Amino acid sequence: MHIEQLKLKRLVETEGYSSITSLLEACVGDSVSPAICTRPECDYSEEMEPDQDHGWCPECNANTMKSALVLAGMV
Ligand SMILES: [Zn+2]
Repeated sequence: MHIEQLKLKRLVETEGYSSITSLLEACVGDSVSPAICTRPECDYSEEMEPDQDHGWCPECNANTMKSALVLAGMV
């Protein structure tokens, strides 16, 4: 499984959605989207711009955060 799929599943769990589809539907059209660090050993997440693909992760001190829509390849 690709890291993007794993991270989407992690966001679904941490944000309390029932599925990846419902998470993405909630993000589309919103001004913020849940984002998560893409490093395998880090699950830091926070709200970011929906098209964010290199957001700052304070845990990794690196631009490793991607929004749910970016992870899903929808933006
Ligand atoms: Zn991180």
